[in-house]
Formats: sequence, structure tokens, C-alpha cells
Amino acid sequence: MGNDWNIETKCVQEGWKPKNGEPRVLPIAQSTTFKYDNSQTLGDLFDLKIDGDIYTRISNPTSSAVEAKIAALEGGVGALLTSAGQAASFMSVINIAHSGDHIISSVSIYGGTFNLFDKTLREMGIDITFVDVDASAKQLDAAFRPNTKLVFGETLSNPGLCVLDIEKFAHAAHKHGVPLIVDNSFPTPINCRPFEFGADIVVHSTSKYLDGHATALGGVIVDSGNFDWAASDKYPGLTAPDETYHGLIYTENFGRAAYITKCRTHLIRDLGTTPSPMNAFYLNQGIDTLHLRMERHCSNAQKVAEYLERDERITWVNYPGLESNKYYELAQKYLPKGSSGVISFGVKGGREAACRFMDNLKLAAIVTHVADLRTSVLHPASTTHRQMSDEQLKAAGVSPDMIRFSVGIENADDIIQDISQALSAL
Ligand SMILES: *Cc1c(COP(=O)(O)O)cnc(C)c1O
Repeated sequence: MGNDWNIETKCVQEGWKPKNGEPRVLPIAQSTTFKYDNSQTLGDLFDLKIDGDIYTRISNPTSSAVEAKIAALEGGVGALLTSAGQAASFMSVINIAHSGDHIISSVSIYGGTFNLFDKTLREMGIDITFVDVDASAKQLDAAFRPNTKLVFGETLSNPGLCVLDIEKFAHAAHKHGVPLIVDNSFPTPINCRPFEFGADIVVHSTSKYLDGHATALGGVIVDSGNFDWAASDKYPGLTAPDETYHGLIYTENFGRAAYITKCRTHLIRDLGTTPSPMNAFYLNQGIDTLHLRMERHCSNAQKVAEYLERDERITWVNYPGLESNKYYELAQKYLPKGSSGVISFGVKGGREAACRFMDNLKLAAIVTHVADLRTSVLHPASTTHRQMSDEQLKAAGVSPDMIRFSVGIENADDIIQDISQALSAL
């Protein structure tokens, strides 16, 4: 049941499917551990011979239901919830890349992910080559080395709003026998399902649109099940015996779910980057209305972007839904239902005017967050990128006047009115 459902129905109906007499709403299993009648059953669970929950660090019934829902939305074989998006990105990489290995990433990615890759992964001995998000097939080819283990990109980058040519990146990765991992936080599976374009693994910061209410921090890793790990000897962690489970071989025991199973039984077991059952419940409740919210975020953002483009007090507007946008064509292909609610723009008067404009806003709130159902706004140059000089900002693609505006699901006229009055008061 469920495979034929449209994505809107999956948001509401997938995951928790109560049996006779069970709670209608996903129950919160707020328990660290689970009771068994005999030690044989528990032993079999530890040996991964049977399915079941042992300890919430590794799995939990509330989280499992949400994982099943997200896997269904993305079209994958399995998913793993994590404590934050950062943990999901980190684990998606170190599940298959280790000290002495090399990875390739688009440079147009979330700042936190950039730091994780450029600093922490390098400190762990994983080398990285950053490539332009607009790199040609030839440029991508040139970045590969014999020890390259994966390629990483963001469907719609935060905050640059660059659209990744998923097919081009997937093709380059597959030509070299490695998977493509895509961070799909901004479009969500409502607007783009990267597996349909050849991506192999999807990660999300569920703290953004999936939760959508700015309630619970979280992340998720989703496995398409499509990548053939056994086709080469590049991934011994998946194709050679795991001595911590009596010599079990992931690809033989778990087939298409090898990668995501190892993420759980090996990585989350060892790292403890687990969400609380309560946060999994909040996430589930967020996803119940994801399809409705994304539709409104996108239609509101389109109206706001078109308004900004017409207003002469605005110097530039970046929104992939505008025909003038550099990524309009790619957005039409990968994000035909809309990109997201996030717009960036500049106001006349530069950095100083940008700050005064933000202070003048009444409805839009200044917060370090995006993808919230409440309209919010951030000035990267004076917050997230505040240590950088104007020259460094330019190199990072953040202009001193850049305002990152996350359009909420209020009435678009009220949001536009708020922007207009804040501009008038400058
Ligand atoms: C916020 C964000 C992250 C990090 O997620 P957290 O839940 O804050 O750890 C990763 N990728 C993207 C695209 C993001 O916007």
C-alpha cells in the first residue's frame, strides 16, 4: 500500500500506519530502551538476525515511522534520522570515505557544510576538491583521483540559491564509479526528488522546511538503494566482513539497503548523533502539512520576488523563479513546482542601508534561520559572515548589501506591505 499515492497523500498517510485499536496519531516512544522476554531474542537482535528496537541511540519506533515516511517521499529504500542536519552531512560522507580518501564537492553549499568539509574532514585526513557549481563535464572529470569516494552538492544552495545540475554531477560521479550525495533541504521532496535525476544518497537539514515550524533541530540521510557498491573494491566497509558484527557483509546481508544499514548499525551506534523521539514526533507533524506549506512558500516568494524586481529602491534580486535569473532554465527542469521561499536581494545604500531596512521590518523577524513558516530575514555580512572583509565576502558570494529573506506562509500582500514600509522609512 502507498506506492501509487501522490506525494501529498504520502505526506499525510505514510510512516505510522496504526493497526486495529492503536493510536490514530504517531505515539511518542519516549523510552531509552525496550524490554524482551528472553535473552535469546535480544542476542539475535544484537547480531542483526532479526529486526527490532534495542536502544534508542540506534533505533526507536517513533523515529522509525518518520524515517519510513521520508524514505517514501524521496523514493528511497531507507532513511536514518539524525540529531541535526550537520550530523546527516557528516555521516553521509564518513560512511564511505576515510582517512587517506578524497571527495569532491560543489563549492556552492551551506556555510556549515563548507566548514565541516574544509576543516573537520581535512583534519580527519579526508582530502577535498571544491568545484564550481557550474563546472563543465570536463572540469568535473578533472577533479577525480583514484581515491575519490563520492561527489557532494546542494540541489538549491543556501544562501547563494544556485541550482545544481543533478544529472551532470550524477553522470560524472557514476563515470568514475562513485555515488552522488545531494543536500535537498531547500526544495524538499515536494519540489525535487534528486533520485529521479540520478543522485544516490539524499541528506536534509530537517530543521528547515521538513519541520517547518522552527521547532525541532534534526537531519536525515536517505538511501536510493540504486548504487552498486560491490561493483568495485572502493567500499570495503560495505563489501568486506564487519568484525564488530561477527563478519557480516552489508551488501550481502542487506542488499539495496547496505549503505543506510551501515549508517545505523555502525555510525549512529558509535557516534550517538540520535534525535529524541519527541523531536521525531514534531518533525512528523511538520511533514503532515509539508505539501501545503511548500506550495504557499513558493507562491508567496514568487510574488515577493516579482515585487522586489519592480521596485527601484532594490538593486538586485536573486530568485530562481524569475525569468531574469541565471538559474531559471535549470530551475524549470529540476524545480518546476517552485524552488523554495528563500530570496536574496540588495537595497540601495549598501551594507548600512541593509541593516536599517531590516530594523524597520515589523512582520519579518531577524533570526538566524530560514525555511520557517514565519517570514524571517538575515543580513549575512553582519551575522553569519561577520568576520569577513568586504573582499572576502565577495569571494564567498555574499555581497555586503545582501539580505537573505525567507518568505513565510502569511498573506503575500502583508509581507510586501512590510517590505515597502521598511524601504520607505530608510
Ligand atoms: C541549515 C542547513 C544545514 C545544517 O543543518 P542543521 O540542522 O542546522 O544542522 C545543512 N544544509 C543546509 C542546506 C542547510 O540550510
